[in-house]
Amino acid sequence: MKNRIPLFLKPDFKERIWGGTKLRESFSYRIPSDTTGECWGISAHPNGPSVIKNGPLEGLTLAEAWSSHRELFDHYPSNEFPLLTKILDAKTDLSVQVHPDDDYARKHEHQPFGKTECWYIIDCEAGAEIVYGHRASSRANFQKWAAEGDWSRLLRRVKIKPGDFFFVPSGTIHAICGGSLILETQQSSDITYRVYDYDRKGADGKKRQLHLKQSLDVTMYPHRDPDLTYHVKHESEAVFTELLREQYFTVSHWDIRGHLETIQKNWPFLLMSVIDGRGELRIESEHYPIKKGDHLIMPSTVDQFSIDGVCDLIVSSPV
Ligand code: ZN
Repeated sequence: MKNRIPLFLKPDFKERIWGGTKLRESFSYRIPSDTTGECWGISAHPNGPSVIKNGPLEGLTLAEAWSSHRELFDHYPSNEFPLLTKILDAKTDLSVQVHPDDDYARKHEHQPFGKTECWYIIDCEAGAEIVYGHRASSRANFQKWAAEGDWSRLLRRVKIKPGDFFFVPSGTIHAICGGSLILETQQSSDITYRVYDYDRKGADGKKRQLHLKQSLDVTMYPHRDPDLTYHVKHESEAVFTELLREQYFTVSHWDIRGHLETIQKNWPFLLMSVIDGRGELRIESEHYPIKKGDHLIMPSTVDQFSIDGVCDLIVSSPV
């Protein structure tokens, strides 16, 4: 099989009560409605599988390619594809939530992964915020303020701007708030415990379920901000910023302004999402146009490639 080719993926879209139309306006995706909240760009999760669009594996889901062609993924030692890349359009606020770690997810949800995630702010309105962390000193303190509905005291709000990056390890209380367009890199998990949903009702007139017990179980007390150090590498016509390297993944921002010569391979495989601009990806003698909104996997069988163009990518790989 000719396997030195990138796997371009067809995204899956999710309608959400907090979603909007920016995935169409900004990314030109054909979205199902004017309340589309999520584009699952690179996913082997059964709740939103990506389908391969090109090459000999065309039509297979990423999960099928993972099971049948593990050589493309450097025989990475995991039964399930480990990561998930999404673009989120939050027109209004997402619920305040927290995710479990692997141990809790396995024990209580019978799922392979908990959910550690991180966000790159693609765009946001002036003055946009997120909820990030809480001010309670202990579980009892958290429970008391939550029961009293004293959310403004309990929840910590942080201003955001385009280009900001946030690491959200499992156990971190968080919410993406309205007016933001975010690329999320996360473990391949769909377990969310809702702490607070602003008492709002969905299209069916009902409030969404909260999970206070599980939330209290998995939240870290007190909240601690992670230490983040960015590593920036300047090439002649590109800037690479390693935003994060931790236990589950590395995430980088690639800012290409011209020609990016061969990149030295030090990853099992790459998840690549073009978040702005366009260019041409070259592998050996083959050329592949890439543009804003494209999501692809660079398999481990590709040792060298180059990109020409003016484009921004978020690139991740498992550790
Ligand atoms: Zn989350």
